[in-house]
Amino acid sequence: MYKYDLHTHTNAGSLCGVSSPDEMVAAYAKAGYSGIVITDHFICGNTCVPRSLEWTKRIDAYFSAYERAAKAAKEFKDFTVFFGAEYAYAAGHEILIYGAEKKFLYEHPEIENADIFALCELLKKNGCLVISAHPFREREYNDFSVPAELPCADGAEIYNSHNSDSENQRALNYVAENSLIPTSGGDIHDAADRNIGLAGIETEKKIKSSDELISVLRAGNYRVLAKGKSFSLNEVF
Ligand SMILES: [Zn+2]
Ligand SMILES: [Zn+2]
Repeated sequence: MYKYDLHTHTNAGSLCGVSSPDEMVAAYAKAGYSGIVITDHFICGNTCVPRSLEWTKRIDAYFSAYERAAKAAKEFKDFTVFFGAEYAYAAGHEILIYGAEKKFLYEHPEIENADIFALCELLKKNGCLVISAHPFREREYNDFSVPAELPCADGAEIYNSHNSDSENQRALNYVAENSLIPTSGGDIHDAADRNIGLAGIETEKKIKSSDELISVLRAGNYRVLAKGKSFSLNEVF
């Protein structure tokens, strides 16, 4: 089986990131993973990318964290890094975006201030998969006037290693009731985080591209990792 974490951060893209792209790749390779999606906070959120740059330069700088990780992955046998993004649409409310391409981001600077429903539509029209990140996480910084549920998303994290059991359980109930795609992510910011290894998905076939990752998620061809144990989708629901 192959393990992938679908939610990780680096200090090259996220202001809150602790470890470099190279350190994150090494930590996950050591933990037995076959790959990670780098989902740094997007350039309109908690980003290291200066807002003073012009849009395409900001995209280049944002992509460089993924590119450094992809380069570092070459040091390890069969380790794949995928590009992703975590986009905040309100305080404490975020989506994970899989499958976005650089050219698409270059061409859509309106993403920065888009309405979340218009953004979902644009992303989906361009082949991306949209997943609610930790939808029921409750923190003091949350804007509680915004609903946890995001009907335009394709799925939601039913396990996030920094959530409480009850927060994850609420997400699981929500995904089950609405037949959404269930995912799992570590939301790891630090290569020394002991939560590395608890989250992600497990597949029988190796995933080699973002397109393949999206197909696997859409088809339900995976097991979900939660607290380091793997569950079939039948066991989850
Ligand atoms: Zn963060
Ligand atoms: Zn995150």
